[in-house]
Amino acid sequence: MELGELILRQALKNAWQHDGKASTGAVINKVLGEKPELKQDMKTLALKVREIVEKVNSKSFSEIEKELREKWPEAMEKRDEERHDLPELPGAVKGRVVMRMAPNPNGAMHLGHARQLLLNWFYVRKYNGKLILRFDDTDPKVKKPLKEAYTWWLEDLEWLGVKPDEVIYASDRLEIYYEYAEKLIKMSKAYVCTCKPEEFREYKNNKKPCPCRGLSVEEQLNRWEKMFSEYKEGEAVLRVKTDIKHPNPALRDWPAFRIVEKPEHPRIDPDNPPRVWPLLNFNSAIDDHLTGVTHIIRGRDLDFTEKQQRFLYEHFGWKYPVTIVTGKLNLEGAVLSCSKIAEGISKGEYSGWDDEKLGTIRALRKKGITANGIKQLIWDLGIKKNNVTITWANLEAANKKALKSKTFKE
Ligand SMILES: [Zn+2]
Repeated sequence: MELGELILRQALKNAWQHDGKASTGAVINKVLGEKPELKQDMKTLALKVREIVEKVNSKSFSEIEKELREKWPEAMEKRDEERHDLPELPGAVKGRVVMRMAPNPNGAMHLGHARQLLLNWFYVRKYNGKLILRFDDTDPKVKKPLKEAYTWWLEDLEWLGVKPDEVIYASDRLEIYYEYAEKLIKMSKAYVCTCKPEEFREYKNNKKPCPCRGLSVEEQLNRWEKMFSEYKEGEAVLRVKTDIKHPNPALRDWPAFRIVEKPEHPRIDPDNPPRVWPLLNFNSAIDDHLTGVTHIIRGRDLDFTEKQQRFLYEHFGWKYPVTIVTGKLNLEGAVLSCSKIAEGISKGEYSGWDDEKLGTIRALRKKGITANGIKQLIWDLGIKKNNVTITWANLEAANKKALKSKTFKE
């Protein structure tokens, strides 16, 4: 192999292993490992490596991955074999790790969910910890839970061989969330805002508190009560006090509860539907604490959530779980979004949640992808901060590899 090619291969491989950033030193060492005679002219080698590394590092992670896959796919396999375990979780203590998977059951589990789920599962097994499956089903308006989806989730989990230690339904826990809302109000850390959305936005964007923020605790409790009886949908929200002057406007006094007058939800009493609903940020933060979650694996797109929730944890004096961020997983040519799949089904583009064009677990199963194949794929991808796009061919390859691999024989 020509020197330029040799360097490029090592640079791409190194970048691929390190979230898209190759290190000049590491690449030089690898090249010298293959061609020790180059030591005689280190200066020329270093210059050349630096030049190629710079070029590689200017590419996006998916470009790097694509190029490596096309030119030297064996460089990728090697790493998978080399890696026998996932990186350690910061601060993890054997027997004390608690993790959770918290889907909204507004559709079937897809490959993106399965990745989060399996990473949680691998870690829980590694540390002899506990896995909680929590249905975060508190949006009865936009991303409405689907009655069948609860069962689908449990079925798909079983098929994947994942056994949660506990299953929790957030919609069963509204009273608990109300209790914590009241505590916050009493601590003067939350207030009921009756401003029109555009009025509040105006205050917020000018770093000014709205007139509701400074009202007495007594008045706030009175207003909170009225959210359950008098106010109409859209007339009042409960906001968590953060920092009204925070440089990021989206972090200023975020909403924690709202009114939904005609909630559509499969798990509530239709004759006596609750009308005050927590927003996901609120209830998931409360539940993570109450259920003792120590580590959260979170998609990079939800990074912002942590910033919002940390205010809440500070108010209560709680310790925030350790968060591990992963990039998004895409499946080439398939939609991995429950709302979009639901839309496609209603338009007749897909025959159902198991349509073979989809990346849902039910669809993959129908196409002959095995549970161990999916586990193999997720195991090999590991924890990556960058978004990854995999192809159907990758899935089929993982399926084959799983047949030979000992990792998931149990
Ligand atoms: Zn207000």
